[in-house]
Amino acid sequence: MAFFVFVIGTILGSFFNVCIYRIPEDESIAYPPSHCGKCNTKLKPLDLIPIMSWIFLKGKCRYCKEKVSIQYPLIEFLTGIIFTIIYLRFGFGIEFIKYTFLISILIISAVIDLKTQYVFFSVSLVGIVGGIIFSIVEIFINKNIFSVLLSIIIPLVILGLIILMTRKFDGMGIGDLEIFILISLYVSPKIVAVSLFLSIIFGGIVSAVIYLKGYRKKHIAFVPYIALGTLIAILFGEDIFNWYLSISMF
Ligand SMILES: [Zn+2]
Repeated sequence: MAFFVFVIGTILGSFFNVCIYRIPEDESIAYPPSHCGKCNTKLKPLDLIPIMSWIFLKGKCRYCKEKVSIQYPLIEFLTGIIFTIIYLRFGFGIEFIKYTFLISILIISAVIDLKTQYVFFSVSLVGIVGGIIFSIVEIFINKNIFSVLLSIIIPLVILGLIILMTRKFDGMGIGDLEIFILISLYVSPKIVAVSLFLSIIFGGIVSAVIYLKGYRKKHIAFVPYIALGTLIAILFGEDIFNWYLSISMF
C-alpha cells in the first residue's frame, strides 16, 4: 500500500513539474501535451514514466539529446516520498487527502518561488479554495468554527507584524502571508503556530548565512522554508507544541 501511494505521488509530481514550468510562463497546464522544450517532439508514454524515464534516458531527450533538468525526477521522487510519509503517519482518510493536497500546493509554490522569486496567486487561489472546502466539510463533521478563525488570526497578526517591521530589509512579503493564510485553512491553531515558528527559524538561519557570506540578493525565496516547516508541523506539530510548553514552564 505504501508503495502504491509512492507511485501515485511520483505521477502527481510529474504533473507538478508541468505546473512549475508553465505557470510562470502563463501557459495552460492542460494543453498542449508534454513535449521536449528544445525539439518540440511530443513525448510518448515511455518517455513520461516518473523518475525511471529520466534515469533510462540518462537525463537527455530521446529525440534530440538535449539535457533534461534533474529537477524533474527530483520533484517526482520528493512528492512520492512526502505522500508516503503522510500515509504512514495518518493512514487513509480525510487527513491524508487534506494534507497531501496542501503539501502539493506548497511544493508547486515553493519551487516556483525558488526559480522566479515570485509567489503566484493562481497557485495560492487553488489552495485557498481547497482549504475553504475542507474547512466546511470538517465544520460539518466535528471542527469548531472558532478553531478555524484562530488558525487564520495567528499568522495574520504575527506575520503582519514581521512584514511591517522588516519592510526596509525586504524580508517576508505579502506572498508569504498569502501562503500562511491558505495553510491556516487546513491545520489546527497549534500546528499553524509551530509551522510559523519553524518557517521563521529556517528562513532566518538561511537569510543570516546568505547575508554573512556577503550576498545581497534582493529577495530570498521563503516559500521553501514555509513548506518544510509546515510538513514538519503536520507530522510532529502536537509533540513540538507540548514540548515547547513543558520547557517554557520552568
Ligand atoms: Zn528533444
